[in-house]
Amino acid sequence: MSVQFWLRTQPLQGTKKQIQARIHALFSRRNFAQAAITGTEKCSNPPSRGLVLGVYADEHDQDDLGMLTRTAAKYNETYTNGALLDMLRIAGPLPKTGETRVFFNLEPTYSAVAVCGLGTECLGYDPMEKIDLSKEAIRVASATGCQELQKLQTSRIYVEDFGHAESAAEGAHMGLWVNQAMKNPEHRVSIPQLQLYYEPELPCDSNGWRIGLAKAEAQNLARQLQEAPANHMTPTTFAQNVVQILCNSGVNVEVKVRSWAESQGMSCFLTVAKGSCEPPIFLELSYYGANLKERPIVLIGQGNTYDSGGISAKKLHALRDMRGDMAGAACVVATCRAIAALKLPVNIRALIPLCEHMIGCNAMKPGDVVAVKNGKSIEIVDADYEGPLVLVDALLYAECFGPKYIVDVSTISDHVLEAFGKVCSGVFTNSEELWQRIKNAGVHTGDRVWRLPLWDYFTHQMCSVEHVDVQNLGKGHGGESCKAAAFLREFLPCGQWMHIDAYNVMTTKGEDYPYLRRGMAGRPTRTLIEFIAQACCHNKSSQYP
Ligand code: MG
Repeated sequence: MSVQFWLRTQPLQGTKKQIQARIHALFSRRNFAQAAITGTEKCSNPPSRGLVLGVYADEHDQDDLGMLTRTAAKYNETYTNGALLDMLRIAGPLPKTGETRVFFNLEPTYSAVAVCGLGTECLGYDPMEKIDLSKEAIRVASATGCQELQKLQTSRIYVEDFGHAESAAEGAHMGLWVNQAMKNPEHRVSIPQLQLYYEPELPCDSNGWRIGLAKAEAQNLARQLQEAPANHMTPTTFAQNVVQILCNSGVNVEVKVRSWAESQGMSCFLTVAKGSCEPPIFLELSYYGANLKERPIVLIGQGNTYDSGGISAKKLHALRDMRGDMAGAACVVATCRAIAALKLPVNIRALIPLCEHMIGCNAMKPGDVVAVKNGKSIEIVDADYEGPLVLVDALLYAECFGPKYIVDVSTISDHVLEAFGKVCSGVFTNSEELWQRIKNAGVHTGDRVWRLPLWDYFTHQMCSVEHVDVQNLGKGHGGESCKAAAFLREFLPCGQWMHIDAYNVMTTKGEDYPYLRRGMAGRPTRTLIEFIAQACCHNKSSQYP
């Protein structure tokens, strides 16, 4: 008998005789000899139903016997007569966080059961790390369990809630997503159907599962939009995709063309766009979940469907991921869809300037000066700092809506990558209230943010020359992300504002977050959704209806 049929990821340790003796003892005790035969016969076919369960164990204590989650313990006793836990313990060391053991044919309903490590039971919020470690462990466990069953081509996967259904749904749905839209359908990885597993006698948080599903699908949508090659995702096709994606979602979409932008005096946006023959598009999304008289939150998403750097061209290695320079736009579109799906009681107006930044014969040149609608003049010192230029007119236009506050999401400066790596987005804001809320949202979602200074020092670096009002790069070396935020503040119409520089979290190598495979990351979509959801929770027990 091959042990691999039973213990796929962790064969039994010891000599052949020792292994046979242990299995014999187990089968004798549980009368599972028949099950063993069934197991070897059926494992040549993909399991039709898989189940993902969890186990707590101290990773640093070799003698820790581990403890199944409440749902897993109930399943173990009710359907396998204790065999699941027995098998888990004799399979070797218990799985660490992010590790999984897969067992086959323990009982007739689920032909494959993945048991995932959750670490110790009492992780919780870590004030130094600014993250809820329990929720993150659940996301990781849920994702790795589902991925193991996906490798077996399981057609339907049931996932327990691990004590927090929202995080379980997030991990499972993000973990299964694969970038394969451009692949021949015959060679694509199959995506199993997902469902929440629950025991009738235990409490079941189906609403938490629904919320996690909406957030994860939003992030997957952002990943999908970012991943599309630039020749398939021009400003026009991005707009077409958004119209299709948001059809019947409850979000209104207005597609505005170049002549409209000209009539609005959007000189800065059009200056960036004129280097490409692809026409620019300005998308305006609106969602009304609250009283029509209530002021909207304005979201702005930077949408460069490709960024060559213009005349200040980028180097080859930097160009590789520049199809994703519309991460802000993708994040805002996905956030709007999730807010509508969750029916959050809030009004949203989303502004998305879309253009290609290319090196055509009309491309902007270093030294060019652009006059902007608010009367200020901008000198283009470095054409590769086009991100702030794209946002200027959207910021000024936001004033029309009398916003409650403005949040822009952009991929402006690689200096946030040097500062943070890929761990968190950089946040700049003139509001302590907005900062506290986005920080709390990041703790909850695991997609963290960190505040950077919005000081006059940086404004001085951007605005201290005699011949123009503002420069797009400014003087001095370093602090480019801070200088870009100071630049944007010069065009802020009024009130509270938050600028998120997500350049560094645009992509992932697939190592930092096991629930995100290598590629475009779709961050910080879930954090933005949670940030807005928290805004709806005044005097309510829950922000979600
Ligand atoms: Mg850029």
